[in-house]
Amino acid sequence: MRNEGLGSWPARRARKTPHRTALTHEGQALTYAGLHSRTLRLAHALRARGVRRGDRVAHLGPNHPAFLETFFATGALGAVFVPLNTRLSGPEIAYQLADAGACTLVHSPAHTALVAGLRQAGQAPSLGCVIEVGAEYEELLDGSTEEPLDEAVAADDVCLLMYTSGTTGRPKGAMLTHANLTWNAVNVLVDADLTADAVALVCAPLFHAAALGMLALPVFLKGGTCVLVESFDPAQTLDLVEEHGVSVTFGVPTMYERLAREPRWDAADLSSLRILMCGGAPVPTPLIEAYARRGLAFQQGYGMTEASPGALYLDAEHAARKAGTAGVPHFFTDVRVVRPDLSPAAVGETGEVLVRGPHVMAGYWQLPNETAAAFADGWFRTGDAARVDADGFVTIADRLKDMIISGGENVYPAEVESALLAHPDVLECAVIGVPDARWGEVPRAVAVLREGATATPEEVLGSLAGRLAKYKIPASLVCVRELPRTASGKLHKPSLRREHGGAPTDRTDRG
Ligand code: ATP
Ligand code: MG
Repeated sequence: MRNEGLGSWPARRARKTPHRTALTHEGQALTYAGLHSRTLRLAHALRARGVRRGDRVAHLGPNHPAFLETFFATGALGAVFVPLNTRLSGPEIAYQLADAGACTLVHSPAHTALVAGLRQAGQAPSLGCVIEVGAEYEELLDGSTEEPLDEAVAADDVCLLMYTSGTTGRPKGAMLTHANLTWNAVNVLVDADLTADAVALVCAPLFHAAALGMLALPVFLKGGTCVLVESFDPAQTLDLVEEHGVSVTFGVPTMYERLAREPRWDAADLSSLRILMCGGAPVPTPLIEAYARRGLAFQQGYGMTEASPGALYLDAEHAARKAGTAGVPHFFTDVRVVRPDLSPAAVGETGEVLVRGPHVMAGYWQLPNETAAAFADGWFRTGDAARVDADGFVTIADRLKDMIISGGENVYPAEVESALLAHPDVLECAVIGVPDARWGEVPRAVAVLREGATATPEEVLGSLAGRLAKYKIPASLVCVRELPRTASGKLHKPSLRREHGGAPTDRTDRG
């Protein structure tokens, strides 16, 4: 059988466009022919070290050519790539390595001490082979061969074991097949209209589904270029956009917020940017407005690791007119918004989002109960709340788990957060529910105020009067220095609730 998987993509691309630049990283360019050669040599080296079909090969490191080379080489062998989040703690990394049963780990030099420590303490028992990126990795490639590989890989084989962000609990390993990732890439090409001359700035981490699935893989499918950035820096981002003529990028809302606060923002030349994908978390209205002032409209994407990850997309044609919505389902995707009994919600009625399509995961790794609970009649239950307008455009409200029920009324924190962010003194904020004797629960805001802010918490909350229904206005506001976020920049509500979720003492308190 032939290789139907992602591992064959570098070879297929090298056949068509060998001289085009596939990647650039720290000023160094790698052509598709080069990517193919390096991937093939790495695949042989991994096989020589015992990696076989179905084995798990983990990667721990930032955006770097070695990430994508390891991903494709692993796929070429029919093995399963497990990208680890570089911001996880030692015990969390040990947990994911053990949970995945990874036999091999490719890691950046920055993680050498951590990995050695885990192995010495016997906390990575499944790991037989560890490869450090840099001299060791290059030697491995130099000593390897470019013989064709004869590995048979089926489209339905698992390609990627990707852990969810852990926003609502312990991260779960989503098993994504070659077919899942391919269909997602096709969906993105249809909706984002990527062209062969696309220059993609990959500054969101590739170990999350969005940067890999929405950006890198679709760009490779078309033969465009990915500019890899190890860690997001707003000033550097503006420089890179100008230097490379970046046409497309993906960011979570916090990244775009930091970019717009950069002193050089107003003067920067952004004329090459055609596609600004934004998603992964609720997109606040003030952010949309700040970009609209520069003539930029977000193509909001809504998705999740389990969907490889795209489910809904707001394309260029509708980006301005339907700003704030997450658009309509991708071409090969079905989305439904349903009531608790799974019957369809009416236009404008908020319900749970269900997703179905050839890009939805095969299941959670070694979690049969969670897998069974995640599906209803073949539909993936996202746990997110949304409403659909008369034209079929979907607006994501928030996670159902984060919804606050106050006096019988539903409050979606994201809406309140968006309203609070419109206050000039509010830099960041989060809204959680706290127990209340009269209403059951009331919203509480936790906010980071701007330096030199003069507004009192009472004034900030007072600014919401008339803009939000009374029951949505937080009963208290706690000021903090920073908000807990996951490695993907999402608000980590469980830690917020632990720290600030106690019964309110007075209406506004300073923490
Ligand atoms: P876990 O599943 O481990 O709790 P997670 O759900 O944050 O973590 P991801 O798969 O990275 O893990 O994120 C998917 C979730 O991100 C979605 O279910 C949704 O809650 C949120 N999300 C994604 N895109 C958007 C968007 N455009 N607007 C609002 N929320 C979004
Ligand atoms: Mg999730």
